[in-house]
Amino acid sequence: MNLYLELSDLYSKLSIKALLSLKYETYFNDKKVFFPSKTSNDVIFSLSLHSIVMQYIIGTINTYYRMEKKFKRTTVTSALPYANGPVHIGHLAGVYVPADIYVRYLRLKKEDVLFIGGSDEHGVPITIRAKKEGITPQDVVDRYHSLIKQSFKEFGISFDVYSRTTSPTHHQLASDFFKTLYNKGEFIEKTSEQYYDEEAHQFLADRYITGECPHCHAEGAYGDQCEKCGTSLSPTDLINPKSAISGSKPVMKETKHWYLPLDKHEGWLRQWILEDHKEWRPNVYGQCKSWLDMGLQHVR
Ligand SMILES: [Zn+2]
Repeated sequence: MNLYLELSDLYSKLSIKALLSLKYETYFNDKKVFFPSKTSNDVIFSLSLHSIVMQYIIGTINTYYRMEKKFKRTTVTSALPYANGPVHIGHLAGVYVPADIYVRYLRLKKEDVLFIGGSDEHGVPITIRAKKEGITPQDVVDRYHSLIKQSFKEFGISFDVYSRTTSPTHHQLASDFFKTLYNKGEFIEKTSEQYYDEEAHQFLADRYITGECPHCHAEGAYGDQCEKCGTSLSPTDLINPKSAISGSKPVMKETKHWYLPLDKHEGWLRQWILEDHKEWRPNVYGQCKSWLDMGLQHVR
């Protein structure tokens, strides 16, 4: 299935005009069908089209579903969109429409299912955008959260709950996870020196430090890689490092982090993933297996 979408001013207009070209071949009631028979251009990707596509895809899901486990209840969640820009057709086609189809399918079968999503409202790209536009990070996330939420509604993505990572519930839950592990003494505490922006009052991720590449001497190399010559770098390799947030020269400062030593948990993870979840997608299963086979690491 190929989807092409031209977005015209998604910021203000929520009517999204889609330039859509669908070539989809499937088996429906054991007959080979093509959808649609002709290529349709410049159509509105509306809820009705959404449900036509669904009908065809449900047949395929049905086949897979017969091979899957039966659960008493199902919670479905999909990657949280980052509240730093609008959602586009790539997000919808790759993440939210497939999840929505699965959820609608379970609802039709009268299964107990909850579809939960929300905007990811933390992180440096949000603060950088706020600075560029001369507004606060709160303004940025408020704007994009409501825009994204509205877009999902218009597209017919049927979340039961669409929340935000800045909600008190989310803060409470994340903090409970950390405190429980902390009180059980599960973490290793380690102090290291990292670049700090004294003007912006924050430590800098590798990507937010730029400078001259020590190999090809190009300006504007990132703290993790020089895009000119492709060399992998560490922030301390850069000549004349600069903060991408404030433009000031960062200083080295001590910082403390808490690490979860995964090697302590290898036994049950091995059983839970490799034995109990053989139905996971081959690429996900294979990636986990290769990590486990290499032996899980902890910071030294
Ligand atoms: Zn370079």
